[in-house]
Amino acid sequence: LLQKDYKKANGNDMMAMKIKDIGGEFKLIDRLSDLVHTQNASVVVGIGDDAAVLETAPEATTYLLATTDMLVENQHFTSRWSGPEHVGIKAVESNASDIAAMGGTPSWMLVSLALPETTDVEWVEVLYKGMATACRRHGIILAGGDTTRSNTLVISVTLLGSVPKAHLCLRRDACPGDLIMVTGTLGASAAALTMLESGHAPSDYLLTKHRAPACRLDISDRIAPLANAMIDISDGLASDLGHICKQSRVGANIHSGTIPLHPDVRQAGSLVGKDPLVFALGGGEDYELLFTITPANRDKLIKLGIDGYVIGEITVDPSFISLVDHDGHRRPLSGGFDHFR
Ligand SMILES: [Mg+2]
Repeated sequence: LLQKDYKKANGNDMMAMKIKDIGGEFKLIDRLSDLVHTQNASVVVGIGDDAAVLETAPEATTYLLATTDMLVENQHFTSRWSGPEHVGIKAVESNASDIAAMGGTPSWMLVSLALPETTDVEWVEVLYKGMATACRRHGIILAGGDTTRSNTLVISVTLLGSVPKAHLCLRRDACPGDLIMVTGTLGASAAALTMLESGHAPSDYLLTKHRAPACRLDISDRIAPLANAMIDISDGLASDLGHICKQSRVGANIHSGTIPLHPDVRQAGSLVGKDPLVFALGGGEDYELLFTITPANRDKLIKLGIDGYVIGEITVDPSFISLVDHDGHRRPLSGGFDHFR
């Protein structure tokens, strides 16, 4: 039904509340998931983590993982500075990043495309070449999908994978005393976008981080057996750490001086007149991993040759997620990204 027909049939009241009025993306997901069955014995973890965790056979040693992500033209990418090959790489990498965050390995991909009739065939072929590049990198097979006509270009990727049961990493398992770590420098994608939007030319490093990022499947399988909680940074450090703290019912202290920033991100900050920390805290799409780990397991991680960056620690009180400055001054950590705000 069109919205106006629905209004006629149901009265305007039903349609009065808008998505933007109910508190954004996560509130909408809560409301919708109340309307359908989302739990049974085979759903180990359903809606609310980076991927769904499914029990396919109780005697199996692995869980099935499932995740999906949608890219809408001019919302998530623009042809002004992203070519189809970049969009293809990013579409796969952003999904693979969610599988990495669970401690798993991706295997099968389903791709659905909504395309305007006027789309160049070559554009779509180069999009698929980009997807193929990322799929080769991670051993992912294209197993199916759907195409349909639309006024807006939309790319929806669903990725299935698996994780050894003992290595599954959820958002809800952070413990007070855990160190909070990230796998790489933050804020490059957001810094590049801010520069592009304000007419500056980003460095090659920033541009690649924004247009065609790479997820951390290269090290996630070594981190997962040692970490307590894990998430990938897709919405910004503040928002994604918020998910871990909320689901684990813990708090956190982040030390602002320890948040790793690439020199190009610092330079972008001074060029556009912004504190570069803002890019790391509030900017999304870094696709690094954020995880919590005991100090003893962190030592084991170093022995495996994985260094990473310690940026804070998990605390007991769930009402405080603080950013601690050099002088000990505390402020609430904020600045995440919500798609409907
Ligand atoms: Mg994620």
